[in-house]
Parts: sequence; structure tokens; C-alpha cells
Amino acid sequence: MNEIYFDNAATTRVDEDIAAVACEVMCKSYGNASSLHSKGLEAQLIMQKTERQLLSALGAKGGRIIFTSGGTEANNLAIFGGSDAKKRRGNKVITTTIEHSSVVDSVKELKNRGFETVEINPKQDGCIDAAELLSHCDEKTILVSVMMANNEVGSIQPIAEIAKRLKRRSPNALLHVDAVQAFGKLPFSVSKLGVDLMTVSGHKIHAPKGVGALYIADKVKINPMIFGGSQQDKIRPGTESVPMIAALGAAAQKAAENLSENSAKVTEAKTALLEALGNIEGVTINSPEQNCMPYIVNCSVVGYRSETMMHFLESHGIYVSSGSACSKGARSHVLSAMGRTAADVDSALRISFSKYNTAEEAKIFAEKLTIAMGTLRKA
Ligand code: PLP
Repeated sequence: MNEIYFDNAATTRVDEDIAAVACEVMCKSYGNASSLHSKGLEAQLIMQKTERQLLSALGAKGGRIIFTSGGTEANNLAIFGGSDAKKRRGNKVITTTIEHSSVVDSVKELKNRGFETVEINPKQDGCIDAAELLSHCDEKTILVSVMMANNEVGSIQPIAEIAKRLKRRSPNALLHVDAVQAFGKLPFSVSKLGVDLMTVSGHKIHAPKGVGALYIADKVKINPMIFGGSQQDKIRPGTESVPMIAALGAAAQKAAENLSENSAKVTEAKTALLEALGNIEGVTINSPEQNCMPYIVNCSVVGYRSETMMHFLESHGIYVSSGSACSKGARSHVLSAMGRTAADVDSALRISFSKYNTAEEAKIFAEKLTIAMGTLRKA
């Protein structure tokens, strides 16, 4: 049975050339980047090269990179480190209700610690209304955290519009963007956007799990959240995982170089999928038609519970998910925030593509879905 992997928003297959970069650093350039001898310098140079690769892939003019264990840690560092650095200037933090749990839960924790927090709901299409968000931004606002592309439905958020008008309303606010799903997939320049802090993660772009980064624009200061060493200017101490960092850099460069080509491939698969799903009665599409990544399609097959459907498809070698991998079967807060009915939410499937997927696979998926609807008992 051929495998069809449609869960790339959860994680991607590591490219062999990227794994080879990690392996080479692990086995040959194994020095500690803080060591003062030449092995240490070799490791340090690899980290510097990765920083250049990431800044270039982000379209950054200036700024710096702090390497982390992934997107979750980078989001935590941005939210806690950013708000801590700005706490004398105000105590208001603004985010949306469709963020990844690493942002949602961090902002909840800020609220527990006494910050005033505002969570903006999306419109029905899963996109935030920039004007609505900005109407909550005032002089007390010190942090605004909005994702670039949503991980469950693929909706793209109006970052440029928010960035353009934020500083006039809230001169003290830092703008943090979780770009974990968008990085290497959507074209943008972090500097042109005017974003202060941006999160990326390796395993969504065919690098290994366990590595990510936080971009910090020039003149932006954040405080450390962990302590214990002088690595990475004490902002994120601890011996750096240079092999994973090198792999992240190589994957970022590769994704940037092939961005349009990969996007065209994925668009073919998405177009074929939407066309096929359009012919199946009982399937509704939750992803927006406009302002949506080509990499993600979220649909509901009302009457068939997500998990039951997922396991049926799995038995035919097709891997999809019911939503965010981090929520492990919990009801989607994103679809609920978009105003979808309980029946839609309970039967949602997320199909997420990578450069390895084809239109043919999308058609096979639709065929198997039709078989499932004829075989499974309605819930
Ligand atoms: N942010 C978004 C939008 C994500 O989709 C994810 C992972 O699914 C994360 C953050 C967390 O990244 P990581 O898995 O690297 O911790």
C-alpha cells in the first residue's frame, strides 16, 4: 500500500540532504560553540552561518537570531521575554483566539500574572480584522502577538496592515508574529513588514524536530526566561545544538530558494483536492477561499467523527489530522472561534501538503473519503 502523507502542518519528513548536514556536524564539527579552541570556533562559525541563512530567508535587513528548541519555546520567549522587558511601559497584551496553543497558553499565563489581555476573534473566514485588533491597541499596550498563517485552516492574517498602524497607536508595543506555518512557504520580508519578533520552527520545513528560532529586530530588547550561561548573549543560555541549528539553516535556505516552485506544486495538489471535494455531497470546506495558504485545506464531513474518519483513512495508508497536533483530539478552538457548528467542528479534517505531494494523491484521498462515507456508520 502506498503511503499518502497529508499531515505536513503537524510535521514534515526530513529531507535527506538536510539530515546529512546535521549528521556531518554531529560527527565532524562536534565542538562546543563556547569552547575557545578551534573545534569550538568551527561550531561557532556554523551557528553564524545559520544566522545569516535565516536572516536572508526571512528577508531581514539587520536583526538577530536566537536559536531555541522549536516554535513553542520561541513563542514563549517572545511573549514572556518581550512583556517582561516592556513591563514598565504598560501591562496590556493583545492576541487572537486562533493562535497556536503555545501563544494562547502563554498569554493566559500573563493574565494570571496580572497583565490585561485582549483576545480578538476572527471573522467567519478565519482571518482577523486588522482594524478591530488595532482599535484595542493603546498607549498601555506593550505586546501584540498575531500568527502569520493559521495552522488549522491556513488563513493568512493581515500582518502588514497591523504593523503599519500599530506603532502610531501603541508606541511601546512589540509586534510578535508566529510564522511557524508560513516560513519558507509564503513570500515575505520581516523587515519590510516591520515586525519586531518572529518565530520559526525547523520541523515544518523538512528539518529535524527540536530546533527553532526567534528573530529579533535591531534595537528590540527582550529579557531571558532561563538562566545559567552566557550562550546567545544570555538571552537563551545552554549549550547550543549545533547539528540541529545547521540543519535548520540549510532547510531555511533550501525552502527560500524553492519557495515558488514548491508553492506551485502544492497549489496543484490543493486545486485537485478542492475540485474533487466539491463533487462529494456532505463535505464543507472550512478554509477560506481568499487569503489562504496553498498548504492547508480544512474540511468537515458532517456526521462522521474526525477520529473515526482519520483512522479509516489511515487503514488505507492516508495520514491526515483532525486539527492541531498539539491539541490531541480536543475540540478545535480555531473552528469554534470561526463560528462553525459543533457538528462541523466534530467532523473536521485537516489535509496539509508538502512539496512531496501530488494532485494524484489528492484524487486518491477524495476517492477513499467517498468509500469511507459509504462504509462508516454516521455518528
Ligand atoms: N506555532 C504554530 C502556528 C504551529 O503550527 C506550531 C506547531 O504545530 C508551533 C507554533 C509550535 O512549534 P514546535 O512544534 O516547533 O514547538
